Amino acid sequence: MTHNCIHWFRKGLRLHDNPALVSALRDCKDLYPVFVLDPHLYNSDHMGINRWRFLVGCLHDLDCSLRKLKSRLFVLRGHPEDVFPELFKKWDVTKLTYEYDTEPYSLSRDGKVTELAERHGVEVVYKISHTLYDMDRVIEENNGKAPLTYNRMQAILKSLGPPKKPVPAPTLEDMNEIKTPYTENHEEEYGIPPLGELCEDTAAPGEEKFPGGEEEALRRLDEHMKRTAWVCKFEKPQTSPNSLSPSTTVLSPYVTFGCLSARTFWWRLAGGYQGNKHSSPPVSLHGQLLWREFYYAASVGIPNFNKMVGNPVCTQVDWDSNPELLAAWREARTGFPFIDAIMTQLRQEGWIHHLARHAVACFLTRGDLWINWEEGQKVFEKLLLDGDWALNAGNWLWLSASAFFHQFFRVYSPVAFGKKTDKNGDYINVQQAAGCIVGKDYPQPIVKHEEIHKKNIQRMKLAYAKRSSDAAVSPNKKQEEKKMKSPKVTEDLPSTVERL
Ligand SMILES: Cc1cc2nc3c(=O)[nH]c(=O)nc-3n(C[C@H](O)[C@H](O)[C@H](O)COP(=O)(O)OP(=O)(O)OC[C@H]3O[C@@H](n4cnc5c(N)ncnc54)[C@H](O)[C@@H]3O)c2cc1C
Repeated sequence: MTHNCIHWFRKGLRLHDNPALVSALRDCKDLYPVFVLDPHLYNSDHMGINRWRFLVGCLHDLDCSLRKLKSRLFVLRGHPEDVFPELFKKWDVTKLTYEYDTEPYSLSRDGKVTELAERHGVEVVYKISHTLYDMDRVIEENNGKAPLTYNRMQAILKSLGPPKKPVPAPTLEDMNEIKTPYTENHEEEYGIPPLGELCEDTAAPGEEKFPGGEEEALRRLDEHMKRTAWVCKFEKPQTSPNSLSPSTTVLSPYVTFGCLSARTFWWRLAGGYQGNKHSSPPVSLHGQLLWREFYYAASVGIPNFNKMVGNPVCTQVDWDSNPELLAAWREARTGFPFIDAIMTQLRQEGWIHHLARHAVACFLTRGDLWINWEEGQKVFEKLLLDGDWALNAGNWLWLSASAFFHQFFRVYSPVAFGKKTDKNGDYINVQQAAGCIVGKDYPQPIVKHEEIHKKNIQRMKLAYAKRSSDAAVSPNKKQEEKKMKSPKVTEDLPSTVERL
């Protein structure tokens, strides 16, 4: 049987390693590559201007690649459950393909669309290619539960064997018998809307340091892979949060939007490692990709993963609600140059180093401001180019010592931490060069770190004590209790690689 097929691009904005797209081409007559601007996902709560610009870049790049295959991208607006039944009828569709997505909203959306497809006699095929492994399989292998430590995750993955190899991108030859029926009015009907039409944000976008798209993703990957020694020696704790040019790959936005397949990234690294001495997980680049798998598995196996209440692994903390302090943090007005420089970089460039994320996340939550990590999560989601539901929540849980990481008495200093890797203050000094006077042009610190972080450690201790007395405590209860007996105040850098 030959099909008229829609391939639905959501994440996975690429042609390489796209097994669902490959499946779409099988026995296909007419191919319709579709992207839906779903207002539930693409709105001003989730999308800052830099993120919008990245998405638009990805869509143009995808359309350009499809044109080379004599096809086009069809961009539609609306709720997928309204959009697809119309398309099924209009294009006489018999098959729908997409990449599997584990986010709770996506699962419920895909469930509804699948039901509608079946009602219209449309076969639905999905494939797993956003993560290295099938998360349901990981959880099954761990007796139905998400692994709660990196070591456990590693053991599970070892038993599953290496990740699958990526599948090649379709070629013109693969498209021989297939056509995409687009018309002269394609731009008007299904073109990619301009940024100004999509984004309500009136703020000017920052310099476009990381343009979106598969071509750019693969170019950047190639550039990194040329530096074999750097790749082989990579150890995350040795990289710097405040170097003026990034000290890690900045491939995260490309992996998040799926311009770069995690499996392609993994196997290119494996090629670079071959025959060379190289670093290992958790600190190596392979190790970083395994952190991603770890948080994805947790996000699939733990209910209410992105929330405190109702999340069984999350310590319940009596966070304060303080809109003024939250706004000062968000708008880089804390009076701590290191923190404010990071938040400025986040707003302008859409990417900050992992340890810079550590510094501002600790400062907002258990370190200084005592504000719920969910608030920080929202700000990051909107401003980060790599904003990812599972990774953002998982890392905020970690940094706020709400789950996975329990050494709450280790607090980053918002002053000393930055000095470690930036002795001259190059990362923060532009202000001084511009004649900026502290207390006049630049605010005084909004909290006294020396005092407040000690009080907060005590508050955290109480939350942990309550958690321990609760019947439904974390699986590491004994270990936590042991650690809590001898709390000591330690500042600055993480000493354990587990944190990275
Ligand atoms: C509070 C907080 C929130 C975060 N939110 C996000 C988010 O929304 N999206 C996101 O992609 N990362 C998030 N991270 C994780 C991490 O900071 C970024 O993945 C990393 O800094 C991206 O830069 P890179 O591509 O240069 O990383 P590299 O060091 O070059 O690592 C290669 C790849 O491994 C993955 N990776 C690296 N570190 C982590 C990690 N800790 N957890 C999961 N995956 C990782 C990413 O896909 C990354 O592209 C967050 C970290 C913190 C502390």
